[in-house]
Amino acid sequence: MALVTTDAIVLKSMRWGEADRIVTFFTLRLGKIRGIARGARRMKSRFGGTLELFSSVNLTLFDKRHDSLASVSQVDISEPFAFLRGNIERIAAASCMVALVDGVTADRDPSPSIFHGLLDGLRSLGQTDDPELLTVVFQIQALGQAGFRPQLDHCAGCGRNVGLTAPKFSPWAGGLICRSCEQKSRDDCLPISPGGIAFLKQARRMSFTMARRLKATGQVRSELEDVIDTYARTVVGKRLPAKNFLAAEPVSSEYGMVSQRAASEMK
Ligand SMILES: [Zn+2]
Repeated sequence: MALVTTDAIVLKSMRWGEADRIVTFFTLRLGKIRGIARGARRMKSRFGGTLELFSSVNLTLFDKRHDSLASVSQVDISEPFAFLRGNIERIAAASCMVALVDGVTADRDPSPSIFHGLLDGLRSLGQTDDPELLTVVFQIQALGQAGFRPQLDHCAGCGRNVGLTAPKFSPWAGGLICRSCEQKSRDDCLPISPGGIAFLKQARRMSFTMARRLKATGQVRSELEDVIDTYARTVVGKRLPAKNFLAAEPVSSEYGMVSQRAASEMK
């Protein structure tokens, strides 16, 4: 058994037994790991409010390598991200970010770039007036860091140049595909305009600090949101919480919040 201390972000937290919590952390040193926090739901728990969703913490745990569940020993808050909690749009964006990281990472597979990317993403939610577009940029970059960089330079199906004739985006192929591959594809492909492709290329290439300043409006924006959401969901293989759930009553889920529309789609 080893005692490990590492920076970590709370991805998920669920009640366990009478007084415990099982918490999924994305940690800098160990990657994604689940830990049991004994007594975390008692009134005078030593964990206090440190295990809130999205919190950035300094975590100490006993890690038994042959056991998938570590034992949480101590948690100190580094950044509580309290600004997320009173704002439904920011909560939705943060839920989308942590769920994507949870979905694209394997247990015990550390990725400092994904860790710091998530930290940057959550921090930036406190400085933006457009959490939805920031989330699109985050998704593009996190997918790339996890090995699912959208293929935009040539056809993701046959490898040939996509040419000038309105390519579409194939979530299953992971990028733009040419007309001929699209006609052979049994899966739905999504329209994307030259403006949308240019945005994707810039967001893929730039640092997060630069990319989060990109703007998209109207048709280009709705295409981008559609393409990236569908691609992220395809990669993860299950429904992620919807980013835009302003029109819906929030309900609880393991990711914190999810729209009724998304919840009904999950049934
Ligand atoms: Zn092709």
